[in-house]
Amino acid sequence: MGKIQVLDEHIANQIAAGEVVERPASVVKELVENSIDANSTKIDIAIGEGGLNYISVKDNGEGIEDDDIEVAFFRHATSKIKSGRDLFRISSLGFRGEALPSIAAVSKLTLKTSGNNKGIGAELNLEGGNIISKKQIAYARGTEIIIKDIFFNTPARLKYMKSLQTEIGHIIDYINRLSLAYPNIAFTLKHNDNIILTTTGDGKLLHTIAAIYGTSTAKNMIPFNDENLDFKISGFVSKPEITRANKSHISIFVNGRYIKNHLLNQAIIKGYNTLLMVNRYPIVVLKIDLDFSLVDVNVHPAKLEVRFSKEQEIMKFIEQTIYKALSNLNYIPEPATKKIEQQQYQKPVQAEINFKIKEAVNSFFSSTKTENIGEEKITIESTDNTENKEVNKEFEQVIESDDFQKDFFSKDKLPYLDPVAQINGTYIVAQNENGLYLIDQHAAHERIQYEKNLKLLNEETITSQELLIPITIDYTHTEIQSFLTHLDTLKDLGIEIELFGKQTLIVRSTPLWFPKGQELIFIDKMLHMLVKSNSIDIKELRNDLIANTSCKSAIKANHSLSKKEMENLLEQLRITDNPFTCPHGRPVIIHFSFYDIEKMFKRVV
Ligand code: ADP
Ligand code: MG
Repeated sequence: MGKIQVLDEHIANQIAAGEVVERPASVVKELVENSIDANSTKIDIAIGEGGLNYISVKDNGEGIEDDDIEVAFFRHATSKIKSGRDLFRISSLGFRGEALPSIAAVSKLTLKTSGNNKGIGAELNLEGGNIISKKQIAYARGTEIIIKDIFFNTPARLKYMKSLQTEIGHIIDYINRLSLAYPNIAFTLKHNDNIILTTTGDGKLLHTIAAIYGTSTAKNMIPFNDENLDFKISGFVSKPEITRANKSHISIFVNGRYIKNHLLNQAIIKGYNTLLMVNRYPIVVLKIDLDFSLVDVNVHPAKLEVRFSKEQEIMKFIEQTIYKALSNLNYIPEPATKKIEQQQYQKPVQAEINFKIKEAVNSFFSSTKTENIGEEKITIESTDNTENKEVNKEFEQVIESDDFQKDFFSKDKLPYLDPVAQINGTYIVAQNENGLYLIDQHAAHERIQYEKNLKLLNEETITSQELLIPITIDYTHTEIQSFLTHLDTLKDLGIEIELFGKQTLIVRSTPLWFPKGQELIFIDKMLHMLVKSNSIDIKELRNDLIANTSCKSAIKANHSLSKKEMENLLEQLRITDNPFTCPHGRPVIIHFSFYDIEKMFKRVV
């Protein structure tokens, strides 16, 4: 006798369950999708202990006809596709006919359903996939499925369950997305009798967004919609100042189905052009409707991934539509200038440093007049220079020479400097017995701020200050759940946060080193760090300080300074640990010794 045998239905279902029913959240997903496919307008979901205790999904949909009740639990039994051809035009969420038998195989399941309007229904009880009882009951049209003791007969799987909070987090996350996909369905989600989400089902997407993210966020969402021959897209994008620490608040729906797609995420972010800060992501609800023939949903068992046949076209279309939506509101300054600004903040190559030096020297030596405005303001106006080409060439050679760079930058502390002027509202001209110095005021201030912040951050005793006006931050229920256990850790760091309402945190005090006006960003970042790795990565926060704070709060170019202000700035710079470069690595100061200058004037050879 051969060794191969066809597995019996029970074992096959348990194996299938391994794919379909990975965790309580996947059970909830399958059940709610069935309710949606049954054209329900109201779906109530109740969860006990992250789903491990019980899961109940009740709808007012079409119900299951009496003859179909047992059949629904057969493998590959589905009312949704009839032939192989249907596979290419799938409009329902389910179609494999695997969910009910798989879920039943690993739990104790009760089904109550009625497919008529006579108030007569049926109740079916199963345990580990075996039918225990069936009886007639009084029941209004619709279906309720109750799952108890999930994984009771697959203890290995139970062992792999994460914390209850992780499980309920996944469930909330999924129900949030479904309610965004179906604003015309009234959803309620309860966990251990606490109401987590209620949507009205009034068909207004913005109302669902408000139910999930809070009204203040909803007020800052911008609608978009557009269509071409192939695609129709619509939804909401958050204003660029409303951002989150990760991409998980981008929800994309293709023909009503929530999907994850890296390329579409990119297209959305590109649509923001340069409006988003580094490592910050928007809240977006994007709905794409296209002909079923242009998308393949039959790629992934959990149906989360889809394949587009016109990928590049759809990406371009999304990017442009979002760009237009944002620029309509005058949120996009001239893109060209933005690009230049961005380039300046990239780590400079040597050529660029030299260019800056030249530029500074140029404007200095082409100055035609000196002005004394009052006692303190000294500015030298520069004009275009064409005559000093020869001198510049000399300069180029000197400053580009390794000797110059090494000699200057290897000095470990800055000498005392006397400011004599400010040029172009950008550079401070200073002197001492060793020659002439040009200082980039923005870079200098950035360095000062950076070291100051760093010291505060490293202080052993955390000094915390109470905020005059507490700040509130809205989060989704999923996030709130995962943050709650970490509030104590934050307290140790001088951050006092409390839950305020269902989905809002209120910040009462922050540590002294927190940059003003950036509190939200830092708290958000820290909360996400704690959830992700249970610890706070100070190094990463420091990097953020560099990227966001020091640069943002530093005095900008084209800002005229009084003599006193220049003296202050130079003095503060002098006592920094590294006065020579800004935190981005650009030079702060350039030195020309008298000898260099005399050489350039050919007084010495
Ligand atoms: P699929 O959704 O892939 O068809 P399922 O195993 O999830 O497979 O469900 C099997 C069948 O049971 C469905 O095709 C549908 O006819 C019926 N069914 C399941 N849940 C419901 C529900 N809430 N309301 C009405 N019918 C349902
Ligand atoms: Mg299904």
